[in-house]
Amino acid sequence: MPSINDIMQVAEALEKSPIAVVSDRCVAVRNRNASCRRCAVACPVGAISVQANEVKLDAGSCIACGACVPACPTEALVPVKPTDDDVRLGAIGSIRKNGGRAVIACARIASKRQADPACFAEVPCLPRATETLMVELAAQGAGEIVLVDGNCATCKHGVCVPSIDDAMQRADALLAAHGSDVRITRQTGFPEDMRVDDASGAYGSTRRGFFSDAAAAAKETAKTAAKTSIENELGYKVGERPIGERLRVTEDGTLPLLDMPAHEAAINALDVIGIPESGAIDSRLFGSVSIDVKQCNACGMCAVFCPTGALSRNPADKPSDPIRFFEFSAADCVQCGLCVDVCWKGALTLSTSVDVSELYDFEPRTFKLPKARKKRI
Ligand code: SF4
Ligand code: SF4
Ligand code: SF4
Repeated sequence: MPSINDIMQVAEALEKSPIAVVSDRCVAVRNRNASCRRCAVACPVGAISVQANEVKLDAGSCIACGACVPACPTEALVPVKPTDDDVRLGAIGSIRKNGGRAVIACARIASKRQADPACFAEVPCLPRATETLMVELAAQGAGEIVLVDGNCATCKHGVCVPSIDDAMQRADALLAAHGSDVRITRQTGFPEDMRVDDASGAYGSTRRGFFSDAAAAAKETAKTAAKTSIENELGYKVGERPIGERLRVTEDGTLPLLDMPAHEAAINALDVIGIPESGAIDSRLFGSVSIDVKQCNACGMCAVFCPTGALSRNPADKPSDPIRFFEFSAADCVQCGLCVDVCWKGALTLSTSVDVSELYDFEPRTFKLPKARKKRI
């Protein structure tokens, strides 16, 4: 049974920030030479910084816009209020309710209660409508995707407009490259056919709804409190162990690999929409790495630090082999650039443009490399 202290601790943690930071997933924590600071660049109010093996989010300055979330290549920033799953389910539900139109609305317009909340997904601000979410909605059968704002020109979140437009353009380009004609638009106020005089009744909890909501909240609190109890037992918070312990090199000489649920969701959705026969995909979701074999001395640092295993050494290579083989899988590359940053020979280049034949090929690209030469001192 969770103690009142545990519950208070959880409540305080959730109260603090709408975005949870998982520092262990950050490439700058994985290796201090990483140049990535995309979260800090994306944040319109300067609420994020990367320092001393930790990504810090100033909950007091954060306006919960979500612009940092899709900017991070390794999914180190996780929205908790609402979660991505909440938004996705709401938006998928809206497709059925609106006859094929997915609707995502910001909190400002939602608060006016001019539409049935079952007919749209509510987000704190529209950067939460990421390109991944939009391609997922297209894969779920949306004929059009409408983002509804509450008049950004007069909103304190107006600084987020470039992030919203950017995600729309990226989603448009991805869909077009995959042969989809799904339209993505943004408008101020709900479409006419969604408007009701007063939807207040649809927002209030019914007695039955109140009890089921309360039960769900209690279940969630108990789950989180259990985690807190485990952390109390361990004597440290999950995610706050010393860096050496957290990022221990595994037996095969690599660091632990990260799972990438949003990245996988995007590629699965694009696969459903339709794989193009030829061409290139330019996005921030996938990358293409090249190795200059004349510069490379096969030290393998790039493969050690790659967070997804997109770049890996051939496990069959033996130390005595005169030639080594590295493999690269574009579908697993999240464009983090860490391999480029850690290569002391400057042998790697990363492109944001990936040929579709490579992106959807199950066979990785192989690099044939000379054996590492010992450095002369
Ligand atoms: S949610 Fe928005 S304001 Fe908050 S840290 Fe992320 S980018 Fe910055
Ligand atoms: S990996 Fe993510 S959290 Fe780390 S600096 Fe880059 S964007 Fe920020
Ligand atoms: S191959 Fe390079 S850019 Fe791609 S995920 Fe691995 S380290 Fe990042």
